[in-house]
Amino acid sequence: MEAKPFGNNFVWGAATSALQTEGSLDADGRGESVWDKAYLQVGAGDESYKKIDEDVALLKELGVKAYRFSLSWTRLFPEGVGKLNQKGADFYCYLVKTLLVNGIEPYVTLFHWDYPLALELKGGWLNEESPLWFEEYARGVGRLFNGLVKNYLTINEPQCFVGMGHYEGSMPPYHQYRGQDLAQVIHHVLLGSGLAVRALRASSTLDLKVMMANTYLPSFPADPMNPDDIEAARLAYLSPKFNHALFSVSLFADPAFLGHYDRKWLAHLKIGIPYSENDMKIIQAGYDYFGINIYNGYKVTFKKGQPALVPTPDAPRNSLNWEIHPEALYYGPKYLFERYRKPIFITENGTCCSDKIVEGSVHDLLRIEYLKDYLKMLGNALKEGTPIAGYFYWSLLDNFEWNNGYDPRFGLVYVDYEKGARRLPKDSFFYFKKVIASDGCEILKDQN
Ligand code: BGC
Repeated sequence: MEAKPFGNNFVWGAATSALQTEGSLDADGRGESVWDKAYLQVGAGDESYKKIDEDVALLKELGVKAYRFSLSWTRLFPEGVGKLNQKGADFYCYLVKTLLVNGIEPYVTLFHWDYPLALELKGGWLNEESPLWFEEYARGVGRLFNGLVKNYLTINEPQCFVGMGHYEGSMPPYHQYRGQDLAQVIHHVLLGSGLAVRALRASSTLDLKVMMANTYLPSFPADPMNPDDIEAARLAYLSPKFNHALFSVSLFADPAFLGHYDRKWLAHLKIGIPYSENDMKIIQAGYDYFGINIYNGYKVTFKKGQPALVPTPDAPRNSLNWEIHPEALYYGPKYLFERYRKPIFITENGTCCSDKIVEGSVHDLLRIEYLKDYLKMLGNALKEGTPIAGYFYWSLLDNFEWNNGYDPRFGLVYVDYEKGARRLPKDSFFYFKKVIASDGCEILKDQN
């Protein structure tokens, strides 16, 4: 019999985030976030706040070992810091306990972009107190879940919320910082995350596992048998030339894992980031895993002594027009492990399709193909020695896809927004269920 491609202890999971799924923005004393102001429609949506039992039942049926969700910072602390909102605390404690009773491990993300408006009005991540605000929040969470939660993620994708929200100005809070301001924001986010790791550990009696969820586009070789192309792919993902805005893994991960900023990126952004030795100690917080969100990637070759992009206009695309490249889930973890030497956790991977209900079902074959192809690549990386601890499919549910509203559907479960956010598992839900139940053997079926 073929050995299990992911072993017996692989953590299979599904992920969501608070602002994208909870709805009920005005319920029970929740404070406003920077996204509330910008997008009034986030109030509608999945209504997970009201349907939490149903959602946990879906997770149970899916058979996941873990559920990654984020906390709405302002449900717990409406002003960002200060008094705990007991009703918000009750909601999350109920969710955590319900998961545990059902044998599902909670993986709690502290911050998935819905920054408290009250803190933004004080300057947000630019304010030099911002790392301390995040630390205080983390301490409150650590105390609340002490004895219950063992796995935390501090922040989700600094590349996106710093890059788009504080550099490009294309998402809330719409800043276009440059120079010293940009440098401060990057440094404060990393300091805040490091302080949060300490605060979580200090307020919990359990042996916590903590990570940050980074993201980027992995580069992969045009010819996987050609050593020059392989070397080109190993270099390209680190180069500002191939990365849009701040979509750089090394800009945020080098300090956290290697203890210094990536000079190439600082030069590219024309910034310097002065820091003390103590700052860097805090930033190198001792993360247990390298958490990474991977959706797509790009092909490179070696030309005139350096990596060069190979356009792939015929690659299949998802409904957001992102190219689909399963190789990303092989080369991404492999190169990240080579550089950062930490076991990898795929904290998000998934695709959006133009899903429709047809006679009571959603036949999302494209998502099934995506899952099969990407997971095969991930399994190969694992087999060849890259330590990969787990995989979260993004997302359990169709949800609010930020600037793109409700059209792109990423869920394993269809959400019928016309009918009170009714849930309907798609065909991919049942496929992923088989993948999990077989510890990944299902993806090896029908191999040709
Ligand atoms: C984010 C999710 C988002 C997903 C698909 C990631 O960048 O963490 O919140 O929905 O990608 O765009």
